[in-house]
Amino acid sequence: MHVVVVGAGPCGLLLTVRLAIAGIKVTLLEANNKLDDRPRAGIYAPCAVLEFMRAGVLDDVRAQGFIPDDIVWRAFDGKPVLEWKDSTQVAKPEAMTTLPQGMLGAIMYKHAVASPNVSVKFDHKVLNVHQDERQAWVKTQLPNGSQEDFYGDYVVGTDGANSQVRKSLFGDRFDGHTWNAQIVATDVYYDLHRFGYGDINFILHPEHYYMAARITRDGLWRVSYGEDTRLNAEECAANQPRKFETILPGNPKPGDYKLTRCSPYRIHQRCAESFRVGRVLLAADAAHLCNPFGGLGLVGGLVDVGGLSDCLIGLHEDKADDTILAKYDEVRRKAWHELINPISSGNFQRMGTADASSLPGTDPSMSMVKRANGDPAIKKDLDDSAYAICHDFTQYYKESTSSVKL
Ligand SMILES: Cc1cc2nc3c(=O)[nH]c(=O)nc-3n(C[C@H](O)[C@H](O)[C@H](O)COP(=O)(O)OP(=O)(O)OC[C@H]3O[C@@H](n4cnc5c(N)ncnc54)[C@H](O)[C@@H]3O)c2cc1C
Repeated sequence: MHVVVVGAGPCGLLLTVRLAIAGIKVTLLEANNKLDDRPRAGIYAPCAVLEFMRAGVLDDVRAQGFIPDDIVWRAFDGKPVLEWKDSTQVAKPEAMTTLPQGMLGAIMYKHAVASPNVSVKFDHKVLNVHQDERQAWVKTQLPNGSQEDFYGDYVVGTDGANSQVRKSLFGDRFDGHTWNAQIVATDVYYDLHRFGYGDINFILHPEHYYMAARITRDGLWRVSYGEDTRLNAEECAANQPRKFETILPGNPKPGDYKLTRCSPYRIHQRCAESFRVGRVLLAADAAHLCNPFGGLGLVGGLVDVGGLSDCLIGLHEDKADDTILAKYDEVRRKAWHELINPISSGNFQRMGTADASSLPGTDPSMSMVKRANGDPAIKKDLDDSAYAICHDFTQYYKESTSSVKL
């Protein structure tokens, strides 16, 4: 089998690694001349960490990353409103893990190119996708204007939010909505531990909400805050010092911290109408988007490609027939509509809470966290719910020998 994967983001790379291990030839096409290392995701829930294990990259991820401590929701003055410690996860190999997305991509790229089954083509921008009964193919454009076609048994679009593969299938249709909000993702050396902050903090406020998380071992923090939607990128950058002085504990001025990155972006809740059309498949941001609060965007994408890997490997090894791809579409879209979309929407709406101290009493999810902190049975249920978006596709193999731990 030969699969053409479009987009060398973390999800395209993880898919490439999994398929290559199974002996499938992969051509990975990337529009840019290098991997994207902008500040983006950085915290991976256990269901995504399971996918790192299955791809054989977890040891490298852990060697550079770390297991974060508690998650704390805080009022604007920094006072904790609610804490969550997942004690069982710390004891499990798939414990939640932190590593900046760019470093994750670099690790997976190293594993991908080590395989003789993989060919990575940078500077190949996919323009459109075609298929017939036997194969699927893409047309790419190179920086010098020349064009080249690539053929495979399947084409997978992991080409991100503006996916050209998705547009080739559905035009501009991408159901859902864009929030009336703008987020600025910054990376900054400013030690929030010394103000009593834990590794992952959600600070609730109608205007000045933000998420602050330590993302590297050497003390780099990701601070993602809400910004006025009327500001353009330059204006967001100009306003960043005022914002930090207003929102961060210690009211720091520019000399008090070292800012390494600052990227504004808009946030969306959107899902494609299908993740499969014949021999063309969609996964991760190409298939669905959600706001970043709670980290379900990339985590959902990594779980998609883990499942899609099992489907394609099943076809390659003649353990599954083509109906498994319909299952992939059905199961992954359902997971987005029934879990990822409502949970991530609630996460974002909670950020704007005016009276943070009332949260455990008024917000059903937060009330559950509060009760779980005092009741081991509820806590176990909540721990287990961290795996709800996982799905074992090997159960649809002709002779199910499922041994996948999901
Ligand atoms: C500023 C910012 C902050 C974020 N913060 C968080 C966060 O804190 N938590 C979280 O969970 N998520 C966050 N996200 C979202 C998260 O980064 C995405 O969910 C994740 O990158 C999705 O991975 P992916 O592999 O699907 O797509 P991407 O990482 O977007 O990769 C897609 C790749 O496809 C390539 N490509 C695009 N078009 C083509 C084409 N036509 N031909 C060939 N290649 C193409 C791109 O160059 C890119 O390399 C953030 C996003 C942004 C922009």
